[in-house]
Amino acid sequence: MIDLLSLDKDELSDLLVNELGEKRYRAKQIFSALHSGVELSDISTLSKDLRQRLSEKAYAHFPKIESKQVSKDGTVKYLFSLRDGHCIESVVMKYKHGNTICISSQIGCAMGCVFCASCVGGRVRNLLPGELIGQIISAEKDTGERISNIVMMGIGEPLDNFDNVIKFLKLVGDEDGLNIGQRHISLSTCGLCEKIRKLADMKLGITLSVSLHASSDEKRSAIMPVNNKYPILELMAACKYYYKNTHRRISFEYTLISGKNDSREDATALAELLNRKLRDDADMPIHVNLIRLNEARSGLSAPETKRVDAFCKVLESHGISATVRRKLGADINAACGELRAIKNQQTL
Ligand code: SAH
Repeated sequence: MIDLLSLDKDELSDLLVNELGEKRYRAKQIFSALHSGVELSDISTLSKDLRQRLSEKAYAHFPKIESKQVSKDGTVKYLFSLRDGHCIESVVMKYKHGNTICISSQIGCAMGCVFCASCVGGRVRNLLPGELIGQIISAEKDTGERISNIVMMGIGEPLDNFDNVIKFLKLVGDEDGLNIGQRHISLSTCGLCEKIRKLADMKLGITLSVSLHASSDEKRSAIMPVNNKYPILELMAACKYYYKNTHRRISFEYTLISGKNDSREDATALAELLNRKLRDDADMPIHVNLIRLNEARSGLSAPETKRVDAFCKVLESHGISATVRRKLGADINAACGELRAIKNQQTL
């Protein structure tokens, strides 16, 4: 069976013309209807006969709401089930400049960061392009509001699902569909250097976020196993390559974990790393996003807010633009992977 939500308009036209003997213009009707959340069986511009013949070869499954939590600040967290019954999470956050959705890119994750709940149980499979976009369609349908920004910061490592993510970027930007341009999309990676370079070569307009979380190989490898394969200097070189190709500012995520990476010395070391390796010749614009650990997994604790602010000040005093991420959805389980892990009854 073909997943209709994973097809672009050209592929949909080919299916209609070659397999079903239909006219090309039908593709646009079907694409628009599906991307606005209309079930295949309810697309009224198509004859019953065509809907029937199409459903013999293809399907469109919208992620189904298994549970939903609404925070006092308006943040909505969904646990969605997919066609095969696996669950993923998406979070809708309301900002003055519009609604932002944080989507998952895989079922589970193979990267093994010690503080992250998404890795529990490893990687089950990649999400299809249709399952990536389906999260947005289902969330828009449920909230009744347009979503204008996307962050790929949910469960999974997006660059470990490269081809499907690239196809998704094309689908989501289609003006007959969700029409969300690349300037409104951020992709976060734990630092798969070859894939960062491959993405750089495509010269897209998306914002790249890199999860750094430590500035020495020793400290980073202790919390992020990916650092054994792609150590920090290699990562810095890949980031520079990304900037030189795209001229897009890179944003670094740094989760503060008490006693691991949150001292003044750690802050100075981070500033020196970024200044020496990235801002030396290119004067590359960068930003550091500080995140206070969400204590989703035992054994690690979050520093006090004062310590996070002090860390931020040290970075600023070295000329690094930095902000502490505002915590939305604090009263719900809004850390990536928590709901799915609870649902699967795995221990955190
Ligand atoms: N695989 C991608 C996207 C993951 S989640 C990546 O690694 O970037 C988005 C961000 O949340 C990452 O920076 C991740 O390291 C961070 N994160 C994961 N678990 C966290 C936790 N418990 N507390 C704070 N930040 C966390």
